[in-house]
Amino acid sequence: MASVNVDRDECISCGACWSTCPEVFEENDDDGLCQVVQEYQVDGDPSEGEIPDDLEDCAADAADSCPVEIIHVG
Ligand code: SF4
Repeated sequence: MASVNVDRDECISCGACWSTCPEVFEENDDDGLCQVVQEYQVDGDPSEGEIPDDLEDCAADAADSCPVEIIHVG
């Protein structure tokens, strides 16, 4: 497992992360900001996730795609 964190307060909703890695990231229906998909959220926190190892590269690519560098993996 790898940990994922998104500083949602700084998200500009550009969509790069969920386009790059929709297995881990998605747009929150209420505020339009990035969140970890529900399946991998920790205690229902949209900004914190635990993901399987085989999705770590995908999540890291999404982190690299984020223009404001607010996604942290591992
Ligand atoms: S790539 Fe970054 S700024 Fe864009 S939606 Fe994802 S977390 Fe937000």
